[in-house]
Amino acid sequence: MKPSSARALELHDVSHLYGEVRAVDRVSLHVDEGEVVCLLGPSGCGKSTILRLAAGLEQLQQGRVLMQDRAVADGAAHRSVPPERRGVGLVFQDFALFPHLSVARNVGFGLTEAAADTREKRIAEVLGQVDMTGFAGAFPHALSGGQQQRIALARALAPQPAILLLDEPFSGLDARLREQIRDDTLHVLKQSRTATLMVTHDPEEAMFMADRIYLMQAGRVVQSGSPDMLYHRPVTPFVARFFSNTNEFGGTVRAGGVATPLGFLPAPGLAEGTRVQILIRPESLQVVAPGESGQAPQSALVEEVRFLGGSKLLVVRVPAGDGGSISLRVRHAGRHLPEPGSRILLQLEEADALIFPE
Ligand code: ADP
Repeated sequence: MKPSSARALELHDVSHLYGEVRAVDRVSLHVDEGEVVCLLGPSGCGKSTILRLAAGLEQLQQGRVLMQDRAVADGAAHRSVPPERRGVGLVFQDFALFPHLSVARNVGFGLTEAAADTREKRIAEVLGQVDMTGFAGAFPHALSGGQQQRIALARALAPQPAILLLDEPFSGLDARLREQIRDDTLHVLKQSRTATLMVTHDPEEAMFMADRIYLMQAGRVVQSGSPDMLYHRPVTPFVARFFSNTNEFGGTVRAGGVATPLGFLPAPGLAEGTRVQILIRPESLQVVAPGESGQAPQSALVEEVRFLGGSKLLVVRVPAGDGGSISLRVRHAGRHLPEPGSRILLQLEEADALIFPE
């Protein structure tokens, strides 16, 4: 039995080139036992390549890959354990079930070394885990997309892999089903305490699933940490923008802060005269009633109102320092809906302003 803090997977300083294209650039990351970790980033930033290198589906060129503290690939030594001997479970976007095999035989596919009765028992157990008991004799074509996804997960979990690698596992499902299936999947992963590395380009999905996120940009990890940390303490404008729309304006630090169309914002730690970029999320702006706010709120002219279900998006205009004005987006959760052409009062929670030196 491994200690609970053991590393299920570790990548050390891994780089990968496809010809001239540097797909992965000195990436280090780890997944601890029982952890669900997401590799997040825009299309083409190198996520799938990292997953393939971890699985051994791609030859490692530089760096090291360790599983349960044992080196399985070393770029410098040209040494590599083949994929089938790494103890990884894989689930891809298209599920890749064997169409000519029953559900039970799909799920039992990686259990060839087990005795027949152990194998049957384990198949029944994982089918139960993914809530598909009773489907053992069915064939993949007779299953819905969501059911196929569950079977793909069961097949990957059956041999009790040291690490589960998921590549965009929900993107083949329609939006409503996707939420349900990812909720169910997270339950299964947490209950079985399976260490998981999941690739996704969807920030909401990553925040929902992950204990920790590695956010990538152009082959590199730009920030890693808890979803809360990345959302509230982004280290660059790219990170902030990746998680939501932002209102953006520039400014210069004077007297310990920046004058903005939304009032004076403190900028601790930034030297006088520093040019800064200020990013403010639409939900960081509150619509307040006259007299409701302790501070002086900013008057804004409502230009557009758009419904987003539970909340509304307001496009408003506020005066800017140069005598002109700027447009801002405000997410409004209130029941009362302002009319286009009317005036509202806006309040910014200072701590929510994201300020970056240029
Ligand atoms: P992601 O999973 O984040 O979309 P990938 O790891 O698939 O990114 O790709 C990273 C970069 O490597 C992209 O520029 C992509 O075009 C390139 N790439 C991926 N696979 C190959 C390949 N087999 N041959 C050549 N270039 C590739």
